[in-house]
Amino acid sequence: MPSKSPVIRLLSDLVSIPSINPSLGPSNSNLTGEEGVATLLADQAGKLGIEIQRQAVLPGRKNILLRLKPKGKIKSRIMLAPHMDVVPAEENAFKPKIKNGKLYGRGACDTKGSMAAFFQAFCDLAKNGPLPLSTEVIFVGLVDEEFGQAGSRKLAKSGPQADLAIAGEPTELKVVTAHKGNSWLQLQTTGVAAHGATPENGKNAIEAMTPILKTLFHDYPKILGKRTHPLLGSPTLNIGKISGGNQPNIVADQCTIDLDRRTIPGENEDSIKKELMALFRQQKLPIPHFSSTRSVPCLPLDTDPNLPFVQTLLRASKKRKTHGVSYFTDASPIAMGGTPAVVFGPGNIAQAHARDEFIDILQLEKAYKIIGVFLKNMP
Ligand SMILES: [Zn+2]
Repeated sequence: MPSKSPVIRLLSDLVSIPSINPSLGPSNSNLTGEEGVATLLADQAGKLGIEIQRQAVLPGRKNILLRLKPKGKIKSRIMLAPHMDVVPAEENAFKPKIKNGKLYGRGACDTKGSMAAFFQAFCDLAKNGPLPLSTEVIFVGLVDEEFGQAGSRKLAKSGPQADLAIAGEPTELKVVTAHKGNSWLQLQTTGVAAHGATPENGKNAIEAMTPILKTLFHDYPKILGKRTHPLLGSPTLNIGKISGGNQPNIVADQCTIDLDRRTIPGENEDSIKKELMALFRQQKLPIPHFSSTRSVPCLPLDTDPNLPFVQTLLRASKKRKTHGVSYFTDASPIAMGGTPAVVFGPGNIAQAHARDEFIDILQLEKAYKIIGVFLKNMP
């Protein structure tokens, strides 16, 4: 790479290490797994005498925690927490290229850009100081954000806890304190099978689902539209899948629909189920069977913008307001574990997962500076 900037060099090195999430990519591929990224981080941290911890999450997959102790007794703690995995791409997407002020490559934006900015600032602090008096700074490389967030869920469960965690994601340097959660629900109606020639002898589950669909498409969105969050707007519903019956000459004995319900703070799976049941009852509709198709909760994020370290980050980034985004991040599982979390990083989410993923180099450098200032202002 022709550039001399340490953060660009680091990002190029990180992009060059393929780390496709194994749950999304081909098995036994040399392109999958986070371990190569963790090794690079550990090598550099080791040279600076930073304490290295590993946290087993999934078979062969571990979070990495790099702990920089303050000068004195620990009174507060912050975590810089980008994820190490990326979504699938061809092998040549892991050869970084710089063109017109942009660095191209899988993960450049989501989220190795954040990782490079955070880690370079973290290493500068370890190397040049001055160390905070009483704040421990932990750089955490998380596994599995792009699939089930197993890394951040493990971190939340097994610690350490902190006063603030910054989940690295491309927010265009906005400080994000809120994002929606999501619930995946399956609704099922049942009927009685009978020969297609004598439908009067059966009970059609598809027919039972029909008024439910009508209510979900027409009445429920109006109810959701009246509910708003200042940073997130209204919750939404998408009916993404329908299936039922077996073949034309049999009366359908079951019908299912799959819902993606995006939630705002105050809503959860139980509250959604209750309000839907109440609505169906009020309209005298058949009550379907409810089940959840997610194995882990994905709650909305709603962190208090007035927390002192959030304010420090706002000042460091010369911003006044915090923002909300529509996508889900590691910040939510971390916050569910008791550590307040925000989302911050260089790049635009529009380029995340895109075929020609890139990051704006100017933003990358800015993020590096902002985190540097933030760390210098730690007590
Ligand atoms: Zn990401």
